[in-house]
Amino acid sequence: MEIYRAVVARVRPLTASMIRVTLTGGDLPAFTSTGVGDEYVRLFFPHGPDRHDLSLPVPTESGWETPEGRPTAPMRTYTIRAVRPEPGEIDIDFVVHEHGVAAGWAAAAQPGDPIGLNAPTGLYDPPEDVVRQILVADLTGLPAVARILENTPEHIATRVILEVPDKASEQALPAHPRARVTWTHGGNGHSPSRLAELVTTALPGESDLTGTYLWTAGETTALRSVRKHLRRTLGLDSSRFKVVGYWVPGSDTWTERWEALPATVRAELEALWEAPTDDLEDVTIVYEDRLSNLGL
Ligand SMILES: Cc1cc2nc3c(=O)[nH]c(=O)nc-3n(C[C@H](O)[C@H](O)[C@H](O)COP(=O)(O)OP(=O)(O)OC[C@H]3O[C@@H](n4cnc5c(N)ncnc54)[C@H](O)[C@@H]3O)c2cc1C
Repeated sequence: MEIYRAVVARVRPLTASMIRVTLTGGDLPAFTSTGVGDEYVRLFFPHGPDRHDLSLPVPTESGWETPEGRPTAPMRTYTIRAVRPEPGEIDIDFVVHEHGVAAGWAAAAQPGDPIGLNAPTGLYDPPEDVVRQILVADLTGLPAVARILENTPEHIATRVILEVPDKASEQALPAHPRARVTWTHGGNGHSPSRLAELVTTALPGESDLTGTYLWTAGETTALRSVRKHLRRTLGLDSSRFKVVGYWVPGSDTWTERWEALPATVRAELEALWEAPTDDLEDVTIVYEDRLSNLGL
């Protein structure tokens, strides 16, 4: 695990609801892309109002830690939209929303601002026999969808469904000869997300799923029923789909609400992950059902 220091090279608005920040410099040239379309990094932001006072954590065997006596840098997860080994740049596309360290930082970003990031990881992993893929996301997953599409071989028929707040948030996607793109408006914290309905409509119960891969990302609670639909209704093997919660409504009070649960309930939920299993998707379904019932 490496932690890199980079600086903002350029900032440019993409749409009414997204800003592209290009990072360069520092030790970024050492950054090695996995090449996976949805690869993401943890970004480490300045801890206070001084945008140049960045207290980076140090790598450990299992992740990272803040050196003793130093302030903790707020961390958020973002997709690498593009990597240019020459001249050593990466692009990150930030959703503009009203609250949040990351969104606020991006909205005010200026060339020269420092930021930290770790090494990237990707989750998109279609089996070799895939001939059809379905990509469904809200705004937060749009950068990953665009990069996945850019890297998709021509023979893979690709259905793209994107939920963005409004027409002004739509953006041009990389061309692909066998892609069909649908934009829907809503969700993204502005109104209830329709991600679950969009996936179940694209893949109804009687679907022929031979050679199909589904990747979906966006509002976490909206995607819980999607995992269930894919696994329990369609009986899809976990190698055939990836459901990734990208953001949590009310995340600023989530830890407080979690800690307010009786200790026995928290212990019971944590124990779910410790039991031996050969199917993490099923454990996730049980865990997420419990969280939903507890209002989390
Ligand atoms: C693997 C992965 C890749 C991601 N890639 C991207 C990406 O490329 N671009 C991107 O913009 N986001 C991406 N995200 C989502 C991003 O990490 C979250 O949106 C994050 O919470 C934003 O941090 P923040 O500091 O702005 O807001 P936070 O401090 O985390 O949250 C503050 C408040 O804002 C709300 N909030 C957070 N995000 C949103 C949102 N998108 N819309 C509306 N309300 C929100 C929260 O519910 C909370 O109430 C990704 C997440 C993951 C897990």
